[in-house]
Amino acid sequence: MTFFSLLLLLATIIGAILFVPPLRRSLVSNRVLKIFRKILPQVSQTEQEALDAGTVWWDGDLFSGKPDWNKLLAYPKPQLSAAEQAFLAGPVEQLCAMLDEWHITRELHDLPPEVWQFIKDNGFFGMIIPKQYGGHGFSALAHSTVVMKIGSRSGTAAVTVMVPNSLGPAELLLHYGTEEQKNHYLPRLAKGLEVPCFALTGPNAGSDAGAIPDSGIVCRSEFNGQQDVLGMRVTWEKRYITLGPVATLLGLAFKLHDPDGLLGGRKDLGITLALIPTNTPGVNIGRRHFPLDAAFQNGPNSGKDVFIPMEWVIGGREGVGYGWRMLMNCLAAGRSISLPATATGAAKLAARTSGAYGRVRVQFNTPIGRFEGVEEALARIGGNTYMMDAARVMTAGAVDLGEKPSVISAIVKYHLTERSRQAINDAMDIHGGKGICMGPSNYLARTYQQTPVGITVEGANILTRSMMIFGQGAIRCHPYVLKEIHAANDNNPARAALEFDQTLLGHAAFSANNSLRSLLHGLTGASLANAPGNAAAELQHYYRQLTRFSAAFALVADISMLVLGGALKRKEKLSARLGDMLSLLYLCSATLKRFEDDGRPAADLPLVHWSIQDALYHLQQALDGLLDNFPNRIAAWALRLLVFPLGKPFSPPSDELGHKVAALLLEPGETRDRLTAGIYLPTSTDEPLGVLEQALQCAVVCEVAEAKVRAAIKAGLISARGDEKIAESLQQGVITAVEAESLEKMKSLRRCVIMVDDFPADFGKQK
Ligand SMILES: Cc1cc2nc3c(=O)[nH]c(=O)nc-3n(C[C@H](O)[C@H](O)[C@H](O)COP(=O)(O)OP(=O)(O)OC[C@H]3O[C@@H](n4cnc5c(N)ncnc54)[C@H](O)[C@@H]3O)c2cc1C
Repeated sequence: MTFFSLLLLLATIIGAILFVPPLRRSLVSNRVLKIFRKILPQVSQTEQEALDAGTVWWDGDLFSGKPDWNKLLAYPKPQLSAAEQAFLAGPVEQLCAMLDEWHITRELHDLPPEVWQFIKDNGFFGMIIPKQYGGHGFSALAHSTVVMKIGSRSGTAAVTVMVPNSLGPAELLLHYGTEEQKNHYLPRLAKGLEVPCFALTGPNAGSDAGAIPDSGIVCRSEFNGQQDVLGMRVTWEKRYITLGPVATLLGLAFKLHDPDGLLGGRKDLGITLALIPTNTPGVNIGRRHFPLDAAFQNGPNSGKDVFIPMEWVIGGREGVGYGWRMLMNCLAAGRSISLPATATGAAKLAARTSGAYGRVRVQFNTPIGRFEGVEEALARIGGNTYMMDAARVMTAGAVDLGEKPSVISAIVKYHLTERSRQAINDAMDIHGGKGICMGPSNYLARTYQQTPVGITVEGANILTRSMMIFGQGAIRCHPYVLKEIHAANDNNPARAALEFDQTLLGHAAFSANNSLRSLLHGLTGASLANAPGNAAAELQHYYRQLTRFSAAFALVADISMLVLGGALKRKEKLSARLGDMLSLLYLCSATLKRFEDDGRPAADLPLVHWSIQDALYHLQQALDGLLDNFPNRIAAWALRLLVFPLGKPFSPPSDELGHKVAALLLEPGETRDRLTAGIYLPTSTDEPLGVLEQALQCAVVCEVAEAKVRAAIKAGLISARGDEKIAESLQQGVITAVEAESLEKMKSLRRCVIMVDDFPADFGKQK
């Protein structure tokens, strides 16, 4: 037999195995199915319901290894309606003007009564409630933009407005309430006649919320003068509940049991949600926690054997046992909006104030923002803020398109709150003691103090990064895994074998394709990868690199699942890195789309370049870290060969690029305005931010005159120092009268900006 005949025989055997279905099934796929069933992670019912919740959107493309960039750019640009813009310019602007965070947090420990009333009267609690029920029926983008603006002024007010519009009674009623419940509660919630809270968390069930011990027992009882009413006796202990201390309507999650079979079915009915008026006898509510000097209402509540009728269950009797599914299905919308909005507001505040302060504050005769060390922090703030706002807007736009993007909501919740923490830390460093000394003129410190709240709520960040993003993404967004799981769980053996075989074939082709494309893109620097022809020419290169990383990500995700199987759930550090890759691909997509949606303003390019280059570098590091720590060293070696055939090509953004970004923050103008658009910016000089803005404008005007004075001092033309030098410079003809006037104005504005508050020795306790 010749070598050629041998090859032909081998090819025929492989071909027969691959392309003759019965042969393929018995020799390959049935065996793989057995192994697959063994390595399939054990998934509890609550985990399964979390996995099934929401929709897959652009994250599905990123998981495909071949994102369709034209599709991304064709998504409509998210826009506010005229009514929404009017609400922002009217009631939101007015509300912001009424808020004094120092007074609220230090003296009142609450919003003033007139602010509460304004919030209720103007429907701030009913932004997501449709107009037919008396709400505003705002888009997700409007909701996000309102919360962002309020958050840039007062964290206390932002949380107060955010919570009733996020996951809580209104959202749950809209999706699952009975008509009677909707008609009764939604108009009252919209007008602020009811203050809602939602209580899931308790002392023994924090991140593991599905483990709540709170319980209800189905029974019959006398209720409101009526005998033999069907309902339940509920016992609970909750904590950390926002708006709880002032709530009139308590949304409560508990596990319902029916030991006497009064509902005629199972004994353990599962997590159930009910709406309980807080004046119901037996409800203990009203005490407060003290979350990091913020003054939003937050506290514990409890009840023992409190009888509630069946009609109080959300969805009535039909809703019994569906609580967890309801929560998971509603989680995506709120998580996509609230915290991404407050986080972006904080970053915009950091960008706006740090740039201005960096130009106004002078040390060593130089605005501090021009020192390279400070530039580095400014560049991080600028790049992060641009990317955050892009992701905020794109994600809200997805919700407005009808998506409930569960994986994306976890991505933006985690990454935007983390980037916000970075931005506010950088801003604090740039402001030095000015950021640290508390008082009415400190516009940063409360935001800094309240940052960990966003990190902890709606899924604490470590858990979200390490478990949720990739854990959920791998199953929901992967083109084949969910189908394989369904096939593996199918009780009909013949159907399971057939379905699994079909899916496995597609999956094998998918992996082979991603392997080859990863290698090809690695060898060619992604020059052959796809990029949308209609996108800005100077950014095409990035689309290609992202295609390369998408293919590499799809490949390593597949191999990780194959090699580690169910153990990947415990390998959180690996899962976190895979999640970072998916997240960075998403953040970069949003950034590129933002530039197109904005009409490609050339002046913004440094921000785009910086944020994408930084993200590409971190994508590379996440992949590198994954391979370095991959338990199967042979697989790691082979993967490295495929994804980094010529080594690691990306570096962090250059110092020169960082310089350009920092310069944009230091300069009043359109780019700085676009970057920080939507935050509350008072103009009055009675306001710290108003003074800072005026000082920045004045600093720019005065720069030439200041340089003249410095040069004159150096040349020995004037001898005065300190306060006298402006007058002498004018006298000596170094500067004009107009310049002298500007310099005097600058002197007083600069002093206002750099001064901090001081207090009597006893902080005014002895009045
Ligand atoms: C100010 C504030 C307001 C809140 N408002 C509400 C509300 O209105 N309603 C409500 O029901 N709840 C509310 N919560 C609860 C909140 O949403 C979180 O669910 C809760 O704080 C997390 O529980 P925990 O604090 O007990 O942390 P723990 O669950 O004890 O977690 C501690 C740390 O361990 C990490 N961790 C836990 N499990 C894992 C894991 N498997 N892998 C990796 N890391 C893990 C977490 O990420 C976290 O970093 C609020 C909390 C706060 C602080």
